Amino acid sequence: MEKKVLITGGAGFLGSHLCERLLTTENCYVYCVDNFFTGSRENVQHLLENPKFAVMQHDICQPLDLEVDEIYNLACPASPPHYQYDPIQTTKTSVLGALNLLELAQRKKCKILQASTSEVYGDPLVHPQKETYWGHVNPIGIRSCYDEGKRCAESLFFDYSRSHKIPIRVARIFNTYGPRMHPNDGRVVSNFIVQALKNEPITIYGDGTQTRSFCYVDDLIDGIVKLMNSSVPGPINLGNPIEFQVFELAHEVLQLTGSRSPIVYKPLPSDDPKQRRPDITAAQTSLEWTPKIPLWKGLQATIAYFEKILSRETP
Ligand code: NAD
Ligand code: UDP
Repeated sequence: MEKKVLITGGAGFLGSHLCERLLTTENCYVYCVDNFFTGSRENVQHLLENPKFAVMQHDICQPLDLEVDEIYNLACPASPPHYQYDPIQTTKTSVLGALNLLELAQRKKCKILQASTSEVYGDPLVHPQKETYWGHVNPIGIRSCYDEGKRCAESLFFDYSRSHKIPIRVARIFNTYGPRMHPNDGRVVSNFIVQALKNEPITIYGDGTQTRSFCYVDDLIDGIVKLMNSSVPGPINLGNPIEFQVFELAHEVLQLTGSRSPIVYKPLPSDDPKQRRPDITAAQTSLEWTPKIPLWKGLQATIAYFEKILSRETP
């Protein structure tokens, strides 16, 4: 019998790639549940003809019932401007959403994977970040709706695992980029590419020396599927361990696009982490997973995507 898989947030950036991957390589039924806050039907339009794919509009803050064998919980806005737009809704999505899906997993006795985040480490004092690090999070700042929401969700996952013996998988995802990021998403890769393609100023927040480690979406999806198919509960870091300063990213994007955009400096948002790089030893040893796609190559594919969608906007 074919597996029935629920993907919440399936119409978002990562969710749409996961729907596509499971339909093409795992040959299962995929139910995509989304409230379309940051995702769109367009992201999964190309999958709608597949009889094994269904899209349902639903807010995971409300309970849901479906016959499923596996759940991937990806629903939650991920870009700082989007999750800060309605911070109370972000906390509800992370916490009530996790609760509703864990209840479903308990009723159906099925595996459930949580898309957690490197943000659980906050502005880290340990570098690179290992899963054993407990983090350095401001509990009352503008990022805390997301950081603390995701931390509480992890706590719920482990309590359901201990109390109800539910098989859980917790992935701590580090900055991931690629086609189908929203052009106005506000994250650094999409901002820089869109600004460069429009020859508009590239906005570096702060002095640009803060670091991030950027993982291409195809690599990340490989890691998520491997984690679900393993017996590893996690939490486990999934990300690319090659670290860049934000101004290096700006120069790479300018070079790859051949853009004439100037660089402008804007204030650093509060609580913006100064450094971030995953230690992926656990994923390498227990999942045999290592990201393969270098930044320049992933950026080329992402630039090609944004060129296509921006050309539709300009008559
Ligand atoms: P995204 O904003 O593109 O996708 C999130 C999806 O969830 C959207 O389709 C949105 O409409 C949907 N959604 C939001 N609230 C919902 C609700 N209450 N009910 C139902 N659907 C809801 O973001 P993404 O980058 O694809 O991130 C997906 C998941 O991965 C998120 O949980 C995010 O926290 C996690 N993550 C992503 C990254 C990254 O770099 N992309 C890093 C760490 C963690
Ligand atoms: N950033 C930037 N310019 C932008 C958008 C973001 O300099 O136009 C910076 C931001 O301040 C942060 C880094 O890039 O230091 C990554 O930001 P993003 O919003 O992509 O993700 P996160 O901060 O959640 O890692």
